[in-house]
Amino acid sequence: MPVDTMQADHSQRAAASVWRGFVQAFERLLDERPAEPAILDRGGRLLAELVKCDDWLPPAFARPDPQRYRQVPLHRDAAGRFSVVSFVWGPGQATPIHDHTVWGLIGMLRGAEYSQGYRYTGPSQLVPAGLPLRLEPGQVEAVSPAIGDIHRVHNAFDDRVSISIHVYGADIGTVQRRSVYQADGSRQPFVSGYSQIDS
Ligand code: FE
Repeated sequence: MPVDTMQADHSQRAAASVWRGFVQAFERLLDERPAEPAILDRGGRLLAELVKCDDWLPPAFARPDPQRYRQVPLHRDAAGRFSVVSFVWGPGQATPIHDHTVWGLIGMLRGAEYSQGYRYTGPSQLVPAGLPLRLEPGQVEAVSPAIGDIHRVHNAFDDRVSISIHVYGADIGTVQRRSVYQADGSRQPFVSGYSQIDS
């Protein structure tokens, strides 16, 4: 076997092993049925460890779509306890203001993104909560109904792709959520679904 093929093979095996180790560690964490703060703390450290190196994500999970950001499923727990999704942001792409209804962890893998939190000050008054948070590679942000669940996210760059890896406490593509499109607080139900995995 040519040396460069052997090296490619070796790095693919190493990447698969990093990824498998992450999923298994998360399964072991949830097997303990910890309370949400412990999931966010310990799970956040597992995710930080995963995204501190950008050498394991297969190219099929890293391709942007020129039309809109992609949500490519990496793992959906058989028992529905969690899911892991690769968010691929094309230049300048952004989400609407949205919520999650379950806990979520966002780990920056490549590029950078801004997350602006929002909160209700009345039944129909939605206001920004603090300053936007800029996530750099290796950093992790948490969301949940208990700690702040509404935000809008956008690629920090207008000229390159950014990628973040998200872990949610449900099969997130199937969760009934509320997308909050307007600063007047009006809500519209939505289910995000998943993007197709490119071959
Ligand atoms: Fe989000």
